[in-house]
Amino acid sequence: MSRQSASAVHASTTLSLKGKIALVTGSASGLGKRIAEVFADAGADIVVADLKLADAQVTADEIGGKGVKTLAVAMDVTNEAAVDAGFEKVQKDLGAIDILVSNAGIQIVAPIQDFKFSDWKKLLAVHLDGGFLTSRAAVRQMIASGRGGSIIFMGSVHSKEASRLKSPYVTAKHGLEGLAKVISKEGAAHGIRSNVICPGFVRTPLVEKQIPEQAQELGISEEEVIKNVMLKDTVDGEFTTVDDVAQVALTFAAFPSNALTGQSLVVSHGWFMQ
Ligand code: NAD
Repeated sequence: MSRQSASAVHASTTLSLKGKIALVTGSASGLGKRIAEVFADAGADIVVADLKLADAQVTADEIGGKGVKTLAVAMDVTNEAAVDAGFEKVQKDLGAIDILVSNAGIQIVAPIQDFKFSDWKKLLAVHLDGGFLTSRAAVRQMIASGRGGSIIFMGSVHSKEASRLKSPYVTAKHGLEGLAKVISKEGAAHGIRSNVICPGFVRTPLVEKQIPEQAQELGISEEEVIKNVMLKDTVDGEFTTVDDVAQVALTFAAFPSNALTGQSLVVSHGWFMQ
C-alpha cells in the first residue's frame, strides 16, 4: 500500500468524544497539539495546558475555530500547586474532565558519566512528577463526577527499549507504564481507564533539537543520526507522524469500557515489536 497519513485512513471513522472534556498537557506544541485538534474534531471540549499561558491561548484559539469550547491554562506539570489550581479552574469553567492526556515532556541527552544530577532530576520531574500530579488531579475529578474517564500517558518506544545518551528519559518512560497499570487497577471500580501510547520518533520540536545534539555527541552527521540511529530499526525507514499518534490517542479516549485498560500501544513503524 502506498503511504497514507493516519488522518486520511481514519477520516471516515465514527469515534466520538461529544460531550467530553479533555485536558492535554504540553498541547501548545507537537504531539499534544495535534491530539487536542483531533479530539476537538471528534467533538470534545478542550483544555490546552502548557507552561506559558500565551502559548496555550494561541492553540486554544485555533481549536476554538472548530466550534468546541476551549480553555487555555498555564500549568507547569512539575508544580503541585499549579496543577491543582489548573484542574480547579477547569472544574469551575467547564466541569469535571473526562479525558487526560499526560503528554508534556522534555529531552536531555548526554552519556551517563557526564549526566548532571540536576538534569536527571529535571527530566524525571516533568515526566514522572507531571504524570503523577496530573493523573491524581484527574482521578479525583473523575471519581467525584461519577462518570469515570480515560487517562492516557505519553510513553515512548523508550518505555520498552533503551537508547544511548537517554538514561533519565528511558527510566521515566518505563516508569509511566507502572503508573498506568496501577491507575487501571485502582480506577476500574470508578470506570477510569489508563493506558500508554509508545511512539517512535516523530519530527516535533523535541526531536528536531535532538538531531544536532546527537550528531555532536556521537561524532556523526545529522543525516546519519536520522538514518542510522533514529530510524535504523523501523521496517521502512519512516518517521511516525503526529497524526498516527493522535489517532491512537483518540482510540484510547473513546473506547467505552474497562476492556482496554492497563495497556501500552507502540506506534513506531515496527521499530519495537511486542
Ligand atoms: P514538543 O517539544 O513539541 O512539545 C512538548 C510540550 O510540552 C511543549 O509545548 C512544552 O512547552 C511542554 N512542556 C515542557 N515542560 C513542561 C512542563 N513542565 N509543564 C507543562 N508543559 C511542559 O515535544 P513532543 O515531541 O510533542 O513531545 C510530547 C510528548 O511525546 C513527550 O512526553 C515526549 O517524551 C513524547 N514522545 C515524543 C516523541 C517524538 O519523537 N517526538 C516520541 C515518543 C514520545
